[in-house]
This record gives sequence, C-alpha cells and structure tokens, in this order.
Amino acid sequence: MLNDPVTVIPSVGEKTAEQLEMMDIRKVEDLLFHFPFRYDFHEIKPLKEIAHEEIATIEGTVVSEPQLSFFGRKKSRLTCTIQVGVVAIKAVFFNQAFLKDKLVRGEEVMLTGKWDMHRLQLTVHKFHTQTFEEESIQPIYRSKGNLTSNGLKKLNAYAVKASVDEIEEILPDKYLKDYKLPSRSEAIKELHQPTSKQTLKHARRRFIFEELFIFQLKMQWIRMKNKHQTEGFSKSFNDDQLGQFVKELPFELTKGQKSSLKDIMNDLKSSHRMNRLLQGDVGSGKTVVAAIALLANNLAGNQGALMVPTEILAEQHEHSLSELFGDRLTVVSLTGSIKGKRRREILERLGNGEIDIVVGTHALIQDDTIFNQLGLVIVDEQHRFGVQQRKTLRDKGLNPDVLFMTATPIPRTLSITSFGDMDVSIIDEMPQGRLPVETYWAKENMIERVYDFLMKEINKGHQAYVICPLIEESDQLDIQNAVDVFEQLNSVMPPQVKTALMHGRLPAQEKEDIMRDFAENNVQLLVSTTVIEVGVNVPNATIMVIYDAERFGLAQLHQLRGRVGRGSEQSYCILLADPKTENGKERMRVMTETTNGFELSEHDLQIRGPGDFFGKKQSGLPEFKVADIVEDYRALEVARKDAIEVMRHDRLTNDEDYKKLKQLIEADPMIQERIFD
Ligand code: ADP
Ligand code: MG
Repeated sequence: MLNDPVTVIPSVGEKTAEQLEMMDIRKVEDLLFHFPFRYDFHEIKPLKEIAHEEIATIEGTVVSEPQLSFFGRKKSRLTCTIQVGVVAIKAVFFNQAFLKDKLVRGEEVMLTGKWDMHRLQLTVHKFHTQTFEEESIQPIYRSKGNLTSNGLKKLNAYAVKASVDEIEEILPDKYLKDYKLPSRSEAIKELHQPTSKQTLKHARRRFIFEELFIFQLKMQWIRMKNKHQTEGFSKSFNDDQLGQFVKELPFELTKGQKSSLKDIMNDLKSSHRMNRLLQGDVGSGKTVVAAIALLANNLAGNQGALMVPTEILAEQHEHSLSELFGDRLTVVSLTGSIKGKRRREILERLGNGEIDIVVGTHALIQDDTIFNQLGLVIVDEQHRFGVQQRKTLRDKGLNPDVLFMTATPIPRTLSITSFGDMDVSIIDEMPQGRLPVETYWAKENMIERVYDFLMKEINKGHQAYVICPLIEESDQLDIQNAVDVFEQLNSVMPPQVKTALMHGRLPAQEKEDIMRDFAENNVQLLVSTTVIEVGVNVPNATIMVIYDAERFGLAQLHQLRGRVGRGSEQSYCILLADPKTENGKERMRVMTETTNGFELSEHDLQIRGPGDFFGKKQSGLPEFKVADIVEDYRALEVARKDAIEVMRHDRLTNDEDYKKLKQLIEADPMIQERIFD
C-alpha cells in the first residue's frame, strides 16, 4: 500500500489529492513521511504560572450554572465560573452554545484557552471531552489550501493503520541497540500518534539520528570517492628551498599557520587530490599560507592560480605575492577588464608556462584560459565562489589540488555539515602584537563627536575608512548615498586631509588607482561602499566608521571591521546605527562585545538560522524533516563519527546490514554532482 497513490484512502478524492500534491504528497508513503512540524502539549498549569494572554490548559470544577446569551446573528456567549485551586475564574465560550449541557455544576473539566490575568478570565478555545492522556499531545501539521492540520491528522491516522507495518528498517541493528532507538515503523507511528512525551522524544531521536547519519554518510562517501579516484597527483618538491623562503619572511609564522601548512604540504605530496578549506579570521594571515603553498606547487613544476572575488583583490594579491616572491616566481593578474592584446599576451604566456602564478576573478576560468600545467588552485573567500565555478574547472579536464580559503568564520555546526566532504584546517590565532579593534556603537545624532574622533586619528598620521551601506533596491541610490556622505565629510575635513570616494560602478582602472593612493597614504580618508569588504590590507588605517550599520549582518560587519586593526596601533570601529528591532540592537551589542569571528558566527547562526547563513543555494544543506543542525549539534557529532567509522571499514560495500543505506546514498543526485571526475 505504501506505493499506492493517496487516492486509495477512502476519504481522498480528486480534490484532496490535488491539494496533497501541492505539498509533494503523492503516495501513501509520502503521507507517512509528512511529519507534524510541532506538537501542542496540553500541560495543565497552575494559574500563577500562566502569563497574561498565554494560551494554556487548566483543570477545575464547575461552580456555577452556565449562562448563555445570544447577540448579533447566530452569535452566542456562554459563561460559567470555574474553581481552579483556590481561585474562582470565569470561563467564556463564544459560539459554543452546545456546551451548555456539558458544564455541570460540581464536575471536573479541562479547558484550553487564552488567559486574561487581570480579569481572571479564560476565553476557551477547547473543551476537552477525552481524558487528559489521550488529549494531551496534539500533532500539528503544515497544510495547504483547504486541507487543515486536523484533516491531515485524519488521513495520517488511516495511513498509519493501513500501512505503517510495511515500512522497512534501514538502519543496521547495531545503532538501534546502541542508542536505544525505536524501529522506523514504530517511530513513524509515534510521530503521528504520540502516546507520551517520553516515547515521542525517542521517536524524534530516531529520525534525528537517521537524517544526520545519512547526511554524514553522503558527505563521507563523496570525500572518499574524491580521494580515491586521483592517482598520480603526488607532487614532490625541495623542502629546503621552501624552508629558506619561510625563513626569509619578515615574521615568524603563528602556530595556526604552521599546522595548516603542514596539512597542505601533506595534501600536495600525497596522491589524493586536495579538497581543503582553510578557515582563519580576518587578518589571521591566510595570504602567506597561500603563498607558501603556491611556491611548493611551483617547485614541483606546476603553475598555480589564485582566484578572488573582486578585481581590487586581484590587484592587491598580485602585488603582495610579487613582493613576497621577489624574482623567484612570475606573478600576473588576469581579470575581466584586461582585454585585447594584453589579454592575448597573458594567455599565451600562461599556455607556454612562462607565467608561474596567475591571480584573477572568475574570468580566470573562462573558456579561453589554457594553462600549461595547472597544479594548484586557491580560492579566496570561497563563500562567494559557487559550485558552478568549481564544476567548470573540472569540466575543462583540470584536476588541480584545490584549497578554499575563507575569513567568514563558519560555525562548527555548519563546517561539518556543508563542508563535511572537505578537509578543514583552521588558523585560530592572530599574529602576535595585534590589538583587538575597539568597537563603539553611536547613534546618528552623535555624528559630530564621531567626526572629532575621526580627525584625532587622522591627525596622528593614521588613515580612515568610512563605509556607506548598499541599499539593495538600487545601485544608483547607493552611489548617491555614498556621494552625499563623501561631500558632507569633505565639507568638514581640513584641506590637507585628502579624501577619495570608491564604489562599484567606477572603472577598474580608477578603483585600482584609488586603492593604490590609499595604500601609499596619498589619501587619508576613504569613503566607500562595501566593495572594500574583503581582503583589502592597509595596516596604517586605524579607524572605520560604518554608516547605517544596522543594515548589515554580523558576518559582513565583522568582515568590514577586519580592514582595521591590521597594524600594531590600536584601531577603532564605530557603528553608526539606530536599529529599530531588538534583533538589530542585539547585533550592535554583540559587535561591541567581541572581535572573535567564531563567536560572532555562532551568534549569526542563532539569529538567522542555517538556511540564511550562506544563502540557501550554497549552504549545501539538505532540508531535514526532524533534525535541526543547531539544536541537535551533539547528535550531529555522533552521526559524523559513526559515518567516518563506516567508511573506514568500507561497511557500505562489505556489510549486508548496510545495503539499504548504500542504495539510498547512491540514489541521491547531489552525490553525483559533487564527485569530481
Ligand atoms: P587574511 O587572513 O585576512 O588574509 P592577511 O594574509 O592579509 O590576512 O594578513 C594580514 C597581515 O598580517 C598582513 O600584513 C601579513 O603580512 C601579516 N602577517 C601574516 N602572518 C603573520 C605573522 N605570522 N606574524 C606577523 N604578521 C603576519
Ligand atoms: Mg586574505
């Protein structure tokens, strides 16, 4: 019956079937897997624990004759006094005249309704006719159209009765035993018809584990496949030459940089293809790690590519890499704005191997780019780099090692879910001598004082950023907004302070010139939209003022703030904001309280939820029916460990008990998409 269309259920006709179809419910089985999204627990509460206007269930004794009055057309009001503990309250029923006979003086009743604390009055929604046990847990379903939650409950009651026994177990016995989980069919039945809080909890636990375990198995499966099908990638290079380069750096690498490098070097040397995520907060020094990796790859006789999200960053990275490498390597940038002869020339030199390292935006992987021997691709700020781009590389027959770098600290929860198929290295400390950026939240009416503060920093010989927000509806308005701020600032700055305005619509050459002027301190105050958000590195800039800061998410504010505090001087970030919502105020507070990106990201995740964290498409997260990766974090860790264990012993292929799981995994189209090959 599981595979039969829903119309086999006697009460389901064409119309209902159509409505079910809108919820992707076609077969009886789909119906069984349409779980309630929440439950109403009619817990009986003492009056003093019920808040004003809360919906609650009470139990008491009828102590007065019910009074029925009619008003309007067919409207009625029934009232009666109920003794609850030592308090007599008034129960009011609208349009439920039929209950008059059920309210018998001296009898116990159970009522659910909205509590008015001041008038000691309960507006009753539900008069409970059954016993408490039977009534106490109400499943609530998501529904569409004319189909109500209650309607779905009835359909499911039928489906459970007729077919739940056909549901087969898919988890090996071992897990049911170890974690004391109910069988699949028991759990489904319990989810639809809970018998007690306790048993419902176990049923949910079972599906939480099942969902997370299968998800982690898929991730590990992809990871294993990607590792195994990659013979012959082993790179060998001279460690001494590399060591010499590291020794010549003007600073000692931090512990986090060293351990990440060790991971990366191992990947390069081993025969599997690298698929690694390097996470490190803004300013933690990822660029130098990337440089060392690129050099190693080059010493092994390969070309390398560094992909960045913006042209500004491409220029900047080309610059810093050229400086780092000196005449060791030839570094060139290739962006969309490089055209014509210059472009052809670069492409030719890439093709014949004259260029060792190319830095660029997405233009890098366009069709006409042909490498001589591409060994390593590093993708900076990977959250801006879609699955599509990764695929393009793969489709071009290029199978380089890939290192993704991100400064958006990813909450632990997300990094083992969305990036569960990648290896992860983390730089978890800042270079020595870095002072945390002091952050203040100022209301817009304090602007004068903010300007004074800004001037004070500039007078010390430091530089400043002023950030204007993006107003999403209109590019033109954004620019206008930035222009206004720019002009206002110009009118209050003394003439010796050089200012510049930067926004996304400027020609590439102009942007580049402005950034160079700022980097060389020919410009002291840079007014900009968020185009400077990522990667820009000017250590002499010690203050940033962010206009309308409440318009930004935490992650973005953190990114922006990361542009200051990059030198040894104390830096400041001032958030100009008049947030209207609690949420907005909370974000401003959090920003002033911590500079730790990981902490901020956990907050962000709490506030926004996992779907919005990266934007749904790129999060790579499936939609779980029962599990919630934030709430069920512990279960996720368990599931991940188990999944790794399964892969280590190749149980999916070797063990009969895992056959059903294997079929499930192989049937998922996402899997094929993510296996490089
Ligand atoms: P991000 O991780 O944000 O990309 P960068 O690589 O731009 O950070 O590094 C920020 C600054 O810190 C750069 O000026 C870089 O030269 C410097 N830096 C990197 N590593 C160290 C270190 N171990 N000690 C001191 N300074 C460092
Ligand atoms: Mg960087």
